[in-house]
Amino acid sequence: MPLELYTPGHNLVTDSLIMHGIVRYLIWAGARHGSVERIGERFKIIINDDINEDKAISELVRLQRQCISTVNLGEPVGLFLRKVWASNVNEQKQIFSAWVNSLSQSITTFKSIKINIYKDVNHIVKNNEGRKPSKAKSRRKSSRVDSVDLPVYLPLGPIYGKYLSKDYVAKENIQYRVCPACFLMANMGLVYGTFILRVNKVNKVSSIMVTLIPSSKADLIDIMLIQRAFEYNYREFNIDIPILAAPLIALSFGETLYAFENMDALIWIYERSGIFMRIPNYIQVNIEELLKAISGIKYYIPQWPKILNDCLLENEDGSIILAELSEIIINNMVKDNIYSITREITKFLKDKKTCVMYLNVIKSLVNALAEL
Ligand SMILES: [Zn+2]
Repeated sequence: MPLELYTPGHNLVTDSLIMHGIVRYLIWAGARHGSVERIGERFKIIINDDINEDKAISELVRLQRQCISTVNLGEPVGLFLRKVWASNVNEQKQIFSAWVNSLSQSITTFKSIKINIYKDVNHIVKNNEGRKPSKAKSRRKSSRVDSVDLPVYLPLGPIYGKYLSKDYVAKENIQYRVCPACFLMANMGLVYGTFILRVNKVNKVSSIMVTLIPSSKADLIDIMLIQRAFEYNYREFNIDIPILAAPLIALSFGETLYAFENMDALIWIYERSGIFMRIPNYIQVNIEELLKAISGIKYYIPQWPKILNDCLLENEDGSIILAELSEIIINNMVKDNIYSITREITKFLKDKKTCVMYLNVIKSLVNALAEL
């Protein structure tokens, strides 16, 4: 009998992270064959292999040791927690400590729950998850013992659902709370399934998360490949990054992914400006064309990531050009714009002494784009 699991249905962002987390856990447990199917804002995961959860649990125990060292040292230990740290723009030290403590606690609980908890399609109701006042307040109202639940920190995307249509300023007192399994899987999804672009400016800090999800159905192996390109991966910048440039940048820096059909990018931002934390609405775009374009560009121009790093991402004019390039590709408008966009890139490279050496790649860029 194949194993059939469902993500809970919190919201598209959190469920996408939980899907990536579950997939990574199953791979640790020996899964190789299966599928991931999108059903509305949820995912159905089918595994056709026998799995051994002991192997996956030992990976979690290793992570838990890093959590304990991190709390003791007061700074992130290991690649996993460094990436969680990069996503978190709330720089109060105790927030990150509380987050890592919750992660450690979720591992302790998960060891006795195991992955079968996701067999149930009514997972959210059974585990009493959702938006509610903090535990201390709810305990006063009710005498029953609360099941263990944990707050979903903002990069894990809790604020959508009912707030989908407008920007939402986070309120600390009505957190969205989830069970330890969801907390753990969402964190794993953040580290293994997303690319994070962290922007550090004097008066504004933000993290832009990009993940890839099937728009309908994908093989387990495709999800594994996406994770290989994104795992532990994040970059820091001192300039603004337009949201549309984010998937292009993520795919340019990660290991090359060749064209998948029916793959969407989901992009969301978490930003702090003064004392305000804010998550603007997420965007979702089909990236079949972008995947094709980037693998072509990297084929013709092997130094492409270096050109981004040394030139185009050195100032905001460059990141705006990347957003334009991304938009043209995603909207299938390359043919009409190929010369105007390459002219803009040429001008940009010419204007900067240290970038003139890259002018010889423009011809290859035109070739790569012309193949789309
Ligand atoms: Zn849950």
